[in-house]
Amino acid sequence: MKKIHVATGRPYDIFIERGLIRHCGEYIRKITKSEKVMIISDSNVFPLYGETVRQSLEEAGFRVYTHVFLAGEQSKTLDTIAEMYHSLIGNSFTRKDMVVALGGGVTGDMAGFASATYLRGIDFVQIPTSLLAQVDSSVGGKTGVDLPQGKNLIGAFWQPVAVLIDPDTLDTLTPHFFADGMGEVIKYGCIKSEELFSTLETQNAKEIIEDIIFQCVTIKRDVVEHDETEKGERALLNFGHTLGHAIEKEHGFTDISHGQAVAVGMVMIARAGEHHDITPKGTAERIARLCQKYHLPVTDNTPVENIVKSSFNDKKSTGSAVSLIVLDKIGVSRIFSVEKSAMLSFVTKEYV
Ligand code: MG
Repeated sequence: MKKIHVATGRPYDIFIERGLIRHCGEYIRKITKSEKVMIISDSNVFPLYGETVRQSLEEAGFRVYTHVFLAGEQSKTLDTIAEMYHSLIGNSFTRKDMVVALGGGVTGDMAGFASATYLRGIDFVQIPTSLLAQVDSSVGGKTGVDLPQGKNLIGAFWQPVAVLIDPDTLDTLTPHFFADGMGEVIKYGCIKSEELFSTLETQNAKEIIEDIIFQCVTIKRDVVEHDETEKGERALLNFGHTLGHAIEKEHGFTDISHGQAVAVGMVMIARAGEHHDITPKGTAERIARLCQKYHLPVTDNTPVENIVKSSFNDKKSTGSAVSLIVLDKIGVSRIFSVEKSAMLSFVTKEYV
């Protein structure tokens, strides 16, 4: 079992262990005096793990309630949140009770947001079951919900009281969803760890996934501890994301996953960095090769003008400039501000 302590305003521990989901109740019992727990999960994940989690919680002495919503990003709405509130209030949940978010990123974000706001905040535990959620979204306390105008426009910083990661749940992921998470895994190597990056190059991530998750979560923990509410360093986690988000948006969030779009974004921005003598030559190619090894795309046929224009609406862009993350080399990243008016030429110089 691996344990990572996160010293945020409300500190908590992240546990990584194969088979952990079967005894999650024991872990949760140790960190709460709650009597009641609401498992919030979606219609894909609950049938796979819901009963295992319920049983373990009951064995640990909890009264267990469940709330299952329809799986998919299209459920990530305030209406779905309202239904969660109704379940909580309908079962007389008080501030002493607790939510368990069981599932991927959408579930964690929404159950987290419901927990952050119900009665001005109740405890919640994350049990992430997708690679993306295990290495990224379950750690760091960002919770949120989409608006018709954009993704995650409503939300709160609300740290979980524990994160329980069971790598065995990845066995039920399709290759598509595994690749989706690998986009973020590769990102961690790019921004903070040349060692992780070369491990991914020389080995098969799937075979050593417990260690890979540990490395990624440790990197994210370090960044989040320094900058809990994204005032500075946390922006490094957005490497590949400014253009990646724009690509997702241009696709209408339909036929390209987050990890796929981030892979394309990472390669584009590394290439731009090379053309402006920020990033050593050959870096973009190295990232592209690694993305392809893990079945991620490295190009997209959306016109680059459209990608750049879409990136201006990113909620992380401020005023007349866009804060991009660039690589000084693999494993070393920094914030680099580009005027919106210069953004297209910054990104497309390679095409000239
Ligand atoms: Mg991401």
